[in-house]
Amino acid sequence: MEFSEIASLFKCNKCGSCTSVCPLYQNTVNEGMAARGKLALLEAVADGRLEAGEAVRAKLDDCLLCGACATNCPSFVPTTDLFLEARAGLAKDLGLPLPIRLLLRALAMPGALAAGTPGLHLFHKLGIPQLANGPLGDKLPPTLRAMLRSVPPAPLRSYRSRVKRAESNGSGARGTVGYFAGCFMNYGYADAAMATREMLGRAGFSVEAPAVVCCGVPHRAYGDLETARSLARKNVEALEKYDHVVSDCASCGAMLKEYRHLLKDDPAYAARAETLSARTADIAEFLVKQDFPKPEFHTPLRVTYHDPCHLVRGQGVKSQPREILKAIPGVEYVEMKGADVCCGAAGSFCVTHPELSEGVGGDKADSILETKADVVVSGCPSCLTQLKAMLAAKGSTVKVMHPMELLAESYRTRK
Ligand code: SF4
Ligand code: SF4
Repeated sequence: MEFSEIASLFKCNKCGSCTSVCPLYQNTVNEGMAARGKLALLEAVADGRLEAGEAVRAKLDDCLLCGACATNCPSFVPTTDLFLEARAGLAKDLGLPLPIRLLLRALAMPGALAAGTPGLHLFHKLGIPQLANGPLGDKLPPTLRAMLRSVPPAPLRSYRSRVKRAESNGSGARGTVGYFAGCFMNYGYADAAMATREMLGRAGFSVEAPAVVCCGVPHRAYGDLETARSLARKNVEALEKYDHVVSDCASCGAMLKEYRHLLKDDPAYAARAETLSARTADIAEFLVKQDFPKPEFHTPLRVTYHDPCHLVRGQGVKSQPREILKAIPGVEYVEMKGADVCCGAAGSFCVTHPELSEGVGGDKADSILETKADVVVSGCPSCLTQLKAMLAAKGSTVKVMHPMELLAESYRTRK
């Protein structure tokens, strides 16, 4: 296994600051969970003292890729970049396990996701995922419980099936937006995606629903860089004609902004990817920058906010979602303890590491409950699914919403 910036691996001075912010270390007090432990392993691999095999991969997989260690490292060790590079090296040398290969292949095929959505919808209608949070939940094997909890609401009709591909919304007086409805938003949270579309229209932009594919974030996380690049090229082609590109999924938005690095060595796409990444914004970042029209109707709710890792650390978007929530008349905003600590979802981590995920997610649910909020808001569909499951497991009825759902509702509600 080789590292492009081997020197940065050896910059770690073993100070341990990363242990104090690592949600997995905090839950387990296990050195292998924190960046310091993982970097020690990678140093041993780089020195030839340890074989880069399945045991090393298992340790690297014990990670939410939340980025808290990188942000808080006094030596500026690019921990998560190193972990991703090591995962890619291992995927190349060892291949990926069959279930992961099948998952990544399905995500790269929009037709497969579209075919599965009615089934997920029916699953929810029958109340099967909810079983994981009832008295039966604790008796289920952790992986099965986690799989049930990870099922998004999945309305019958996806976002893109509700809007015609090139049908514009809004006057377009302020330009065009290619709205990137990622897999989770398009199929799992289509109502929230419709709210995003509505808000972009209200702000004066013409919105289209281009035929994009998966952003590639799961492929990159598992080290399948070849597929991640192939998906990135397709998305560059689908989105480059728009004045702005907007995402309402923290992970998709962070990945689109990452295309400039992912495709930097591709002569046909490097400049185009650079332009696309520069044009991409998260919906909250975009609306605040564009001075969105403020709602007038009263929405009397106590609201708290959870920072998705890929938004707060991945994109540096922290104040904008809070600004939006505070602009809604009647909203009493209350900050939760550790709002920027990972919720434990981390894509498929919640299924591959159910107990670790539940430990971190349970702490997050406690922080939400302490605020006595009516609603918790977050701009990431993976976080929304985890927060719903973790709150339901505690018998809570706190509502979980995407910020665009609450904002769009506040234009319509007269109370
Ligand atoms: S905070 Fe940075 S330098 Fe300190 S142990 Fe962690 S990775 Fe190493
Ligand atoms: S990325 Fe998050 S979970 Fe992984 S080692 Fe760093 S702080 Fe811990």
